[in-house]
Amino acid sequence: MESQWSDADAGAAVERWGAEHGEDLALRTYTSRLLGADPALVLHGGGNTSVKRTVTDRYGDDVDVIAIKASGYDLATVPPEGHVPVRLEPVRRLRAFDELDDAAIVNELRLALLDHAAPTPSIETPVHAVVPHRFVDHTHADAVLALTNQAGGEDLVREAMGADVIVVPYVFPGFELAHAVAEGLEAQPDAIGMVWLKHGVMTWGATARESYERMVDLVTRAEDFAASRSGTTPGASPPPAWTQDEGSGRAATLARVAPVVRGALARRTGDPDRPYRRVVLEAVTDADVVAALAAPDAQERLVTPPLTTDHLIRTRLSPAWLELGPDALAGDEALADAVADALDAWTMRYAAYVQRHRDRLPEDVTPFEPSPRIVAVPGVGLLCAGQDAADARIVADIARQTVRAKTVVTAMGGTYESVPDDHLFDMEHRPLQHAKLRAAVDPPLAGQVVLVTGAAGAIGSGICDGLLADGAHVVATDLAGDALDSLVATLDAEAPGRAVGVPLDVTDPASVAEAFAAVARRWGGVDGVVVNAGLAHVSSLAEMDLEAFRRLERVNVDGTLLLLRQAANHFAHQGTGGDVVLVSTKNVFAPGAGFGAYSATKAAAHQLARIATLELAPADVRVNMVAPDAVFSHEDRPSGLWAEVGPGRMKARGLDAEGLEAYYRDRNLLKARITATHVARAVSWFLQRPTPTTGATLPVDGGLPDATPR
Ligand code: ZN
Repeated sequence: MESQWSDADAGAAVERWGAEHGEDLALRTYTSRLLGADPALVLHGGGNTSVKRTVTDRYGDDVDVIAIKASGYDLATVPPEGHVPVRLEPVRRLRAFDELDDAAIVNELRLALLDHAAPTPSIETPVHAVVPHRFVDHTHADAVLALTNQAGGEDLVREAMGADVIVVPYVFPGFELAHAVAEGLEAQPDAIGMVWLKHGVMTWGATARESYERMVDLVTRAEDFAASRSGTTPGASPPPAWTQDEGSGRAATLARVAPVVRGALARRTGDPDRPYRRVVLEAVTDADVVAALAAPDAQERLVTPPLTTDHLIRTRLSPAWLELGPDALAGDEALADAVADALDAWTMRYAAYVQRHRDRLPEDVTPFEPSPRIVAVPGVGLLCAGQDAADARIVADIARQTVRAKTVVTAMGGTYESVPDDHLFDMEHRPLQHAKLRAAVDPPLAGQVVLVTGAAGAIGSGICDGLLADGAHVVATDLAGDALDSLVATLDAEAPGRAVGVPLDVTDPASVAEAFAAVARRWGGVDGVVVNAGLAHVSSLAEMDLEAFRRLERVNVDGTLLLLRQAANHFAHQGTGGDVVLVSTKNVFAPGAGFGAYSATKAAAHQLARIATLELAPADVRVNMVAPDAVFSHEDRPSGLWAEVGPGRMKARGLDAEGLEAYYRDRNLLKARITATHVARAVSWFLQRPTPTTGATLPVDGGLPDATPR
């Protein structure tokens, strides 16, 4: 690998941050981000960096501190404030103790902060503090781990790294490691860096650049050594014949398998109204990863513990292995059985591991859900599960890098070896790690993937906004074009990573099927469908143009039918129930003259939804309706329906646009202006399932006695 140091960028960093934070912290920030930007060095929150400096305290006295990355910051994006100053002397004095647990270390670190409200410094602060050099960089670089995590790794590392690098045997990260590092450095003070077996690599230097470039140098030594030892290209065997990707064969298999895996990974809550806490999937389908999964004895080599114990909280002990032969793919039942068997095998293996070490479980730690985070599917890829899309992405990134590193071990002719089982258990149940994951309370629609049709319109965009605010993952669908693209850009800014756009023509069965397949490939499946796309047309029956009527039938009736049909099949396939909300209209109950095409076709859609309640209830699919009165716009999105209807209505009543809105407001009991946000709340309410309700219609109209559902 090459150094990414640039004098211009370093100068820019000093210009930007130097005046406020000092040149050394500005450059510390710059090279930390260089490390964080390279997934071969650092993944999501992994690694840490520090700089020792002197600051002036409130009394005007000089204080030696170590500014170290605080937990919760990612090296890729760390701001200068992300390195918090800790008094160096008290941290160094901790060496006087032979043992200290994490809680005691955190206590001492917090007492040594200069700002009592600062975030907690990295638990590896004592390790950085014992290094006498100013800048210290630590990563879990894959190339180094590929050497350290093999039988005979110590010899390989010594040979690859040379005499100026210290090699430290595996010890528990934290306090024990600080002792080992201090002793290593005392024995070999001229070393430029250090490899910690089965953990990672550390470098140091007098300047940010020196420490960073030593990291690049050591990782390059590891890469070159591995390359010199690998006679063959890793994972060169072709995938099994049945998954050869003729056109979209592999993509189709992924779309079919992912919902079944996602359904099987959903946690059973025991609450009959909300029986599942679902996961979101991210698939890793890179060609080299797929090839590695298909290689001989891949299962034996890849169903192994992670590269570093850091990864345990994300990936768990090992991946599940789902082998899908032609038999398993022959029918839906066979596929569901194969998935269940694969997950059962994992669960049994995991339960045995927990059982073996149960005496080591700390009192205040609840073990994780016994369910895998990675399901390896030869011929398809890695299906990686998270609480949400961002979490799944982290698991996927780690899983991809892990397969690559293990493949390097194989290519070198080595045998992969992780840290001992009991240490894995200790690290997986380390209270500190669990505290990291203890997030705030889940939002009401956490883990739910909801597809909205007609999303680019006023009501549709309002529904998307509302669902994102309630924590859902939103699939915004509409006809391809600028309206959809600009909506998705807005939604993604609102809730990064939780909104995707999928072009969809609701009148085309193939388009409907492809939209669901696209979501299955992206996030694993769909849990809620909001049937919202609709068209309006103003005409008396006497003057009705048949083609105009049929156009409404295609969108409002056929479109609803196709969505219901696809949703029914998808929900059955996924096996965790589901929800449908139809955006109906008050016209179903109180039709308007001159509005026959709309009222009749929406009534047909409404009736189809009522039939769906009857047919889908046994599979725990709830179907409900929301019946709004006129919504004119949502933010800057005017209602397409009212663009069609408004002018005629205004003319008929002699009103301008404002007057028309006032007219609609005044006709309801509450004198309420109906907004897309109101409709969104009603939709979200049904999706949250607070009551055992299906087949209900919730009016969102301010109270219109003649439109009350009956
Ligand atoms: Zn580490």
